[in-house]
Amino acid sequence: MVREARVARAVVPCIKQIDTVAGEWPAQTNYLYATYNGVENDVEFDLKNAVMVLGSGVYRIGSSVEFDSSCVGCIRELKALGYSTIAVNCNPETVSTDYDICDRLYFEEISFETVIDVYHLEQPKGVILAFGGQAPNNIAMGLSRAQVKIFGTSPDDIDNAEDRFKFSRKLEALKISQPSWKKSENVDDAKAFCEQVGYPCLIRPSYVLSGAAMNVAHNEEDLATFLKQAAVVAKEHPVVVSKFINEAKELDVDAVALDGQLCVLAVSEHVENAGIHSGDATLVTPAQDLNKLTLDRIKEITFKIAREFNVNGPFNMQLIAKNNELKVIECNLRVSRSFPFVSKTLDYDFVALATRALMASDNPAIRASIKPTATLLKGRGRVGVKVPQFSFSRLAGADVMLGVEMASTGEVACFGKYRYEAYLKALLSTGFVVPRKNIFISIGGYHAKGEMLDSVAKLSKLGFELYGSKGTADYFQSNDINVKPVDWPFEEGSSDEKTSNPSSSSFENKEFHLVINLPIRGSGAYRVSAFRTHGYKTRRMAVDNGIPLITDIKCAKMFIQALNAVGRRPTMNSQVDCVTSRSLKRLPGLVDVHVHVREPGATHKEDWLTCTKAALAGGITTILAMPNTQPPVIDRASYLLASNAAQEKAVCDYALYLGATPHNASEAAELAHLSAGLKMYLNETFTTLKMDSISDWTKHLVSFPKNRPIVCHAERQTLAALLCGAHFANRHVHIAHVATAEEIRLIKDAKERGWNVTCEVAPHHLFLTEKDLPEGIREVRPRLVTEEDKKALWDNLDVIDCFATDHAPHTWDEKCGKSGAIPPGFPGVEYMLPLLLTAVQEKKLTLKDVTDRLSTNPRRIFNLPTENETYVEVDLNEEWTIPKNGGESKAGWTPFAGRKVHGRVYNVVIRGEEVVVDGRVVAEPGFGRNIRLSKEDAPSSEEEPDEEEVDLSQLEMRRPTLSGDEQSPLHTPPRAVSPAAGPETMGRHLVSVTQFTKIQLNKIFEVADRYRHDVERHVNLTNVLQGYVLASLFYEVSTRTSCSFAAAMQRLGGTVISVDSQSSSVQKGETLEDTARILGSYADVVVLRSKEVGAAERASKVCNQVVINAGDGAGEHPTQALLDAYTIRQEMGTVNDLTIALVGDLKNGRTVHSLAKLLCLYKGITLHYIAPTAELQMPQEVVDYVAARGFTQKKFDNLAEGIHHVDVIYMTRIQKERFSDEKDYEKVKGSYVLTAKLLNEAAMEMHQDSLTGLSRRTSPIVLHPLPRVDEIAVELDHDDRAAYFRQARNGMFVRMAVLALSLGRAEV
Ligand SMILES: [Zn+2]
Repeated sequence: MVREARVARAVVPCIKQIDTVAGEWPAQTNYLYATYNGVENDVEFDLKNAVMVLGSGVYRIGSSVEFDSSCVGCIRELKALGYSTIAVNCNPETVSTDYDICDRLYFEEISFETVIDVYHLEQPKGVILAFGGQAPNNIAMGLSRAQVKIFGTSPDDIDNAEDRFKFSRKLEALKISQPSWKKSENVDDAKAFCEQVGYPCLIRPSYVLSGAAMNVAHNEEDLATFLKQAAVVAKEHPVVVSKFINEAKELDVDAVALDGQLCVLAVSEHVENAGIHSGDATLVTPAQDLNKLTLDRIKEITFKIAREFNVNGPFNMQLIAKNNELKVIECNLRVSRSFPFVSKTLDYDFVALATRALMASDNPAIRASIKPTATLLKGRGRVGVKVPQFSFSRLAGADVMLGVEMASTGEVACFGKYRYEAYLKALLSTGFVVPRKNIFISIGGYHAKGEMLDSVAKLSKLGFELYGSKGTADYFQSNDINVKPVDWPFEEGSSDEKTSNPSSSSFENKEFHLVINLPIRGSGAYRVSAFRTHGYKTRRMAVDNGIPLITDIKCAKMFIQALNAVGRRPTMNSQVDCVTSRSLKRLPGLVDVHVHVREPGATHKEDWLTCTKAALAGGITTILAMPNTQPPVIDRASYLLASNAAQEKAVCDYALYLGATPHNASEAAELAHLSAGLKMYLNETFTTLKMDSISDWTKHLVSFPKNRPIVCHAERQTLAALLCGAHFANRHVHIAHVATAEEIRLIKDAKERGWNVTCEVAPHHLFLTEKDLPEGIREVRPRLVTEEDKKALWDNLDVIDCFATDHAPHTWDEKCGKSGAIPPGFPGVEYMLPLLLTAVQEKKLTLKDVTDRLSTNPRRIFNLPTENETYVEVDLNEEWTIPKNGGESKAGWTPFAGRKVHGRVYNVVIRGEEVVVDGRVVAEPGFGRNIRLSKEDAPSSEEEPDEEEVDLSQLEMRRPTLSGDEQSPLHTPPRAVSPAAGPETMGRHLVSVTQFTKIQLNKIFEVADRYRHDVERHVNLTNVLQGYVLASLFYEVSTRTSCSFAAAMQRLGGTVISVDSQSSSVQKGETLEDTARILGSYADVVVLRSKEVGAAERASKVCNQVVINAGDGAGEHPTQALLDAYTIRQEMGTVNDLTIALVGDLKNGRTVHSLAKLLCLYKGITLHYIAPTAELQMPQEVVDYVAARGFTQKKFDNLAEGIHHVDVIYMTRIQKERFSDEKDYEKVKGSYVLTAKLLNEAAMEMHQDSLTGLSRRTSPIVLHPLPRVDEIAVELDHDDRAAYFRQARNGMFVRMAVLALSLGRAEV
């Protein structure tokens, strides 16, 4: 109301920009805020196609970066879908408040007032609440009532899930099991309930995140304390007490649905037993312990819930599994904390999908892109474990125990091939230190000791020194496990000074490296009275002394399993540990068959380390090194010299060529098996190895073994001569760096003739011509070519077998001629792949063309072994510029500098080891292997990982012993479907409320709910009653009721004919019976309003169509009563156990007669009758009816007294037309006016429960059948408690349901 008055007077805030540049320039930054201190806006509200996203607000336990991550994901997806984005958030720590994330950033709190101001200024298409966590969810209803368009699940459905009553009712309808529960009115009630179901019980308020004020009560004392706490937090929402299930497994389901159809879901399981808040629990995804039947059952439940709550967007569900049964404990129709975790682990963007589901209603193309396939995601072979991080060490005195209320201040998630690996990694990441030697164990309870027996034995076997408190040590010793008892300073009867091994000092001296303290749960209120216990002191001492502490039995078991399986240090594995947002393409290991390393001899140009680093950075996993070093590799001694240098420094795999000389043919042949091949230099180049005589060539061609290739540097005419020579010698030759059109044609001809020849082309001949580089710099052998030559190479790609760089580094100074003659050659090994990938991008090559020539063909030609677990990951899309510094090579330059290329090498793995991570070479010098040498010792070296594998698989096979329940299917047999409640559940006519059963009532409400939902979503319902005619016969004017029926009929596609009291035949004195009979022959349903009590009943006796009583004098008004009850149920969650005040002329008010009777179908109702005079009190007939059903009724004449502590105030008009004498009317007119003050007095006087001081929720809602005269002050209209306009709207939905059900047309 304040708001409306304010807006009416144009008191609205201005939007200002935060001046981030101190006024020196006009501020451009996108930080906006609302202020009343301004006259004009800094920005124009001209965003088109905008969507507003509400952030998560301040960080606190339970609401932090996870929700922000989801918000940012949503904003990004919206942008990708072409929307403008407006973010509202008030937390400078978040990414969503980075100014460049969205188009408009409002640095404002998440409150109704702010959001609606921004909404009205920006006029976006709608608002998204689903990603900000609980803060936006809490204002959903308010925004919806203010006509704000909300994308996603409707606020009504959100309310249905948050409100315990509505939620529970839905679950019952779906036949989904849930723990028994009760709304707590007072301690006695709650106590009775807890005694009935048995302790422990869970106490929780609704509409809360992170389990604030949630607690498990183990006894009456706890119950009272916790109820008191919960009531403070809950405010106007109900507090619920439910049965807490011990020793059960808790499961988390994250899912996305589109308009009630389930799209995807993921299931995570808690390591700890149920009862630890999911924010504090150790979470494993995908679930490891569930069998297919259970997963199917979970899927089925999720499917049903998505449909029932019309979920549109993300939602989260928590279930518990015990004794072959799944029970749903909670459902949140928004993102959960675990959304980013499951998204990353399962490699599936839940947020993007959810965003698209939200926007599907806005754009049919988006809707078409989503397939609601109800897929259960299982990920890609890795397991994610999320471990909470606590700050107990900073909280002096806090007990290190977990409960249903969230306590963690952070969390770490890690991946692993299996859960133990992931768990250990995550645990270590929280700062947990794996114990070196001494472990102190203290386990409460015989049951827990037994459960830990195997694990403790394992610890002992792993070589740890175990110490225990006396009882614990005794137990394990009697089971033949050596646990040394420690004299326990807190144990009764022991004294600190005389102990030989005082444990408190052991703690202080950190003699213990781990403390496992498993207290007894459920034996009493550990939270309340646990302080000062031995356990508390133990835990606190561990924390205060910085000793790692485990307090949960399941975590302790998992940790010991992990230690046993993984060891102390889990290894990093890029396949499971790394996630990237890049679209990485995996290529096989790539080979460059032509590389000049320059070591030995010219290490100022390049050495084995820099050269192989450059190769790795360029995605090359194996290089074949040319022999023209100093000395050249031509015999055993020089081979060893080069090989030793390589062995010491290389970071990628390699092989060495032998150089051919006129004299070494026989020695070369002997060494061939150790070499990459033989290199023959037949033209002038940077070498001393040139051979001029054809007879010298021939010696090699003949003697070099045929399983090793001969690679020849042979240009122009020499090439022709060589080809002939090789052909005559009947052997294969490989031609290095083919450059000209002439040469490639020659090779093509030779190939066509079937001559055994292969060839390679260098990137500088494919991508450069002589014009591209200055004189001197461009020196290379073969020389750079002309445009025609280059074209000929590209045109004859099919003739080219390999791409090879001819990486021939010289320093920049040398190339510039500063050290004499300019040496020919370019460094290039680092940039070949990006250049080729750019050609792929430009469609000049396919990716297969590249991998054929860099992997498949070289391996075949050079007889190279295929490398296991060797691959190169490239981002094909990244565009970057080749730097001037030449990269890793010592040469310090490259002829390709400054070129824009597409495709970048990100990760390289050789033999399962990561050698390049994120573009950085991480391999240690010496990692590279000479593939010709290592082949011999390969078998022995390859066994280690196998051994490990075997161990792991065994481990997985002897799966942790599942308890009996978990192994057997959790599937519950399908229950018999109740017969569809058809029209027979409704009477034929609707004359009186007394004809209803509770089941019929629920059926009407259920159908009304559905229509309400459909109408709000503009679903076309006109097929329901198409062709049906409603005759509305009103002997008494009531525009409201007749309009409501007409609207209901027309919404369902039917038509309406109206007869009113002015119509002719009625005026002429036709009887009601005749009129009803005749109308019945025209119409399918007759709606009758009359001044006479019992008119509808009379009409129904003669009319052969359905008759609906729309009010018969001071008799009944059943459809009004229906919509009243429906509204109470909608507003309060339930009608049971409410106190309802009926106010006004109760004698003549037919609506209150019907309502009072209808309420008798519920339980625990108390009725207050408030009438100005005894005359106008509730008729005895009604009072008797209610009394006969055992309900409490109280009469009042004072309004303030009568509405004291009630839940619902039902105001009615004093109806002038019901008074025969106007004086009587004047006497009572205006006696009751409900004002805000009265309402507040009724509400604010807190009812104190004597035992707990628990405040009862006493904020009543106000109903009125309307029209009103002056009974309700207009000021109340804006109060949230004023439900009468919503009540009027509900009238149409209820009447739609009544019509459809009466005519047997409601699909049930
Ligand atoms: Zn070369």
